[in-house]
Amino acid sequence: MTSLTLPICVSNSSTPNVLQLTGQEYLSTLQTPKNLKELKTIHAQLIKTSLIKNHLLLGKLLCCCSMSNSMAYAQKVFDEIPRPNVFFCNVMIKGYSESGSIRQAMNLYSQMRFLCLTPDAFTFPAVLKCCSDMLTLKEGRGLHGLVVKLSYCSDVIVQTALIDMYSGFGCLTDARDVFDRVLERDCVCWNTMITVYSRWGDSINAQKLFDRMPDKNTSSWNTLMDMYCKAGDMSTAYRLFEQMPKKDIISWNAIISGYTRLGDSENARKLFNEMPKRNVVSWNVMITCYVHNRRFAGALQLFREMQFSDVKPNEVTMVSALPACGHLGALDLGQWIHMYIDKNRIKMDVYVSTALIDMYGKCGSLDDAWHVFDSMANKDAFSCSTMIEIMAMHGKANEAMAIFSYMKESGMKPNDVTFVGLLSACSHAGLVDEGRQFFEMMSRDYGLVPKIEHYGCVVDLLGRAGLLDEAYRLIETMPIEPHSVIWGALLSACRIHGNVELAEIAVSRLLELEPNACGNYVLLSNIYSKANRWEDAARVRKMMKEKGVLKKPGCSSIEVNNEVYEFIAGDYMHPRCGEIYQMLDQVERRLRDQGYVPDTSSALHDVDIERKEQALGYHSEKLAVAFGLISKEQGAPIRITKNLRVCSDCHAFLKMVSQFYGREIIVRDCNRFHHFNDGLCSCSEYW
Ligand code: ZN
Ligand code: ZN
Repeated sequence: MTSLTLPICVSNSSTPNVLQLTGQEYLSTLQTPKNLKELKTIHAQLIKTSLIKNHLLLGKLLCCCSMSNSMAYAQKVFDEIPRPNVFFCNVMIKGYSESGSIRQAMNLYSQMRFLCLTPDAFTFPAVLKCCSDMLTLKEGRGLHGLVVKLSYCSDVIVQTALIDMYSGFGCLTDARDVFDRVLERDCVCWNTMITVYSRWGDSINAQKLFDRMPDKNTSSWNTLMDMYCKAGDMSTAYRLFEQMPKKDIISWNAIISGYTRLGDSENARKLFNEMPKRNVVSWNVMITCYVHNRRFAGALQLFREMQFSDVKPNEVTMVSALPACGHLGALDLGQWIHMYIDKNRIKMDVYVSTALIDMYGKCGSLDDAWHVFDSMANKDAFSCSTMIEIMAMHGKANEAMAIFSYMKESGMKPNDVTFVGLLSACSHAGLVDEGRQFFEMMSRDYGLVPKIEHYGCVVDLLGRAGLLDEAYRLIETMPIEPHSVIWGALLSACRIHGNVELAEIAVSRLLELEPNACGNYVLLSNIYSKANRWEDAARVRKMMKEKGVLKKPGCSSIEVNNEVYEFIAGDYMHPRCGEIYQMLDQVERRLRDQGYVPDTSSALHDVDIERKEQALGYHSEKLAVAFGLISKEQGAPIRITKNLRVCSDCHAFLKMVSQFYGREIIVRDCNRFHHFNDGLCSCSEYW
């Protein structure tokens, strides 16, 4: 483009050790990003050789600073230029604008106007972009006036930037007006206008414009298709996808995302398999899709497959894969991902760190969660709330409240999630007064309207503390229609405190809301059994049978050597099941010698004691523990994830195993964590 005369070779014999480059060589070395030290060296050499006077080289140096994320150094170089011209200003404005330093970009533009430099076709697009980001329509209109005055009306790039700017403020008529005045529209201009309509949900005008467009490129098709995907109209989107003359990766990713958004993992996966080439976005979309559909094992399988593809995972992949580890309790894989992040220098932003905290917390490794949290340079309300939730799950109410104090001191604004965490922490620790205070505080001090989750926590809190009548009153008077979780919380409290009357009320409401949920029947039957009301218990079981409600099988998973194994009660599927049952019998005999007596109140049937004991004997968490004992190395903690609440018999059993075998056992049930150590549990019998 620009022709320039450069000295072919610069020789400077006084410094023979320093490699001297020619002007051409400097030009090519400045094409790639440099670190600050390299930039300084090049800058010094350019000054020394007077090559700095060459405007093209100086401009390239500024560009290089900008692409190396060193705008501060670029500013330093710029400040030394005696009379900066429009070209240098453009480089600086663009650099600031692209690095998100909008204010500096605008300052530079003002400085440029102050120096009486006339903006050109390269200045306007960058400055107009800043206007949308800074939300100043007035300045945008001012710039539009200047564009007209300086007669850039026929410059399609400037005009497209104007369309974009107006669209940012929702001024669709202004945007269209500019579009209609452009004489020679290119593809980008057309696509921008279609994007504008699509962004503001005007599918009719978007489609009309698309139909009128003379030379559609793939990007035009993608824009229109993406609009239908986002509107959830997958049949139209898929029709467009099929009609497209040429599909690129963006087209495939967009259509897969469309199905993902609707939770249609089948169609998403089908297309993912058919894709000729995948990039990191494709993998991320598919992994996220599986996680959202609770297909956690499938998500991790995909993540493993990705390792064997030629696509490198990025921070988004980590944020998508880590929750799957958390849900499955796959700590080894989670740790491996953490190492992978460190080794590959994947950016540890607040999302990645928070995903790690969540994963460690849910896998029962509180120390690791704390370590990640503690080493975060920029903690925000999001990461603090996650940490509070994790503390709550582990029954660490004081720590949860300490983080909350830290949030207040640092001036962070707590949100809904913060209070769910605080309330459930209080509930798990039986801190009734503190819980009540937090519940009042959230609306009084922070203007947060309590949601159903918050009411659920408070009902749980009161119920567990034995304040069943107060809990019941709260349910009757709350401004939101109570759903099954609320009644379920009351029912659980009735189980702990043996209140049959309220339990019957709760169950009758629950059966209206979810007639097929087996847990309610099981709990009521257990409550009757505990009160020795066997006939009533039998009646509930009969009801279950009549309605065809199946008891949800208890399922426990344990990770051994990077592999997650699942057990269901009385399961003979495991290849080592012979050894497992042998081990379990051995454990049980030993514990009986130590005084273990099975607690049969949780057994569903009013059969004779021996059969009851057998039914309890093979609960899934016991099988998982037995497998842990034979397959995990001596002294290694045993971590188990269970889909239902741990029954009181298994709870007593696990406490004794932890003491007798000197093992730390960490169980996550559907409500919280139990850390069994030395014959005690962290929940203090409160679950
Ligand atoms: Zn059990
Ligand atoms: Zn416990």
